[in-house]
Amino acid sequence: MSTTSIAESLENLTPDAALDALLSAYEGQQACLTCSFQAEDMIVLDLLRKRVPLIPVLFLETGYHFAQTYEYRDRIAREWKLNLVNVTPQQTVRQQESELGILYVVNPTQCCQLRKVEPLMQALEPYEIWFTGLRREQSPTRKNLKKVEQHRLPGGKNLLKASLLADWSWQQVWDYTTRNGLSYLPQYDQGYLSIGCEPCTKIPDDPNNARSGRWSGTKLECGIHTFSERAQ
Ligand code: SF4
Repeated sequence: MSTTSIAESLENLTPDAALDALLSAYEGQQACLTCSFQAEDMIVLDLLRKRVPLIPVLFLETGYHFAQTYEYRDRIAREWKLNLVNVTPQQTVRQQESELGILYVVNPTQCCQLRKVEPLMQALEPYEIWFTGLRREQSPTRKNLKKVEQHRLPGGKNLLKASLLADWSWQQVWDYTTRNGLSYLPQYDQGYLSIGCEPCTKIPDDPNNARSGRWSGTKLECGIHTFSERAQ
């Protein structure tokens, strides 16, 4: 079956069923999950760890996360015995700030490029399947997201990008979290709805627009979900 046919056949399946079908169709292929430990990522991680316990969990270690995020990441990694991979930029925060200034203030696009996009481009090279916690509802830039898409990395490599929760609502995310007793980042209880690097994450004024709290509404994407070219 072609990738396009497989992608179409998975589109209306539940995350559990889509994952089983995907792993069966691509048995033996190297897979990874990009994970910021937000609620959606925890659900995908929960589904994956029961089937592929040693799946690499790629955390973009920008050096700018909340202390609570680091504490939560480390606790979950320990409790779930994760194969955690901290993906780091070429420069430390101190090196970057002394050479280029406070980029998250003056040029957040460059900061995201250096601390997230370029490191992830490299980190994805060994894999054939890239799992994400993306949902269509999160942003207008994600509204056409398919559960399985073929992407081409800038270096020319093709891989599948799988977003098992693409069609889920925020309510479904919390229903799963509650029903399955998953813990979650403590910032949610403070009113945060979309949680990334601390300097670029605020409690959103509009609770119906979770990502309006990111980059003070000046941009919607850091670039990690826009750098690869969709190949189908
Ligand atoms: S989210 Fe902010 S701090 Fe993090 S890499 Fe992007 S600009 Fe830099």
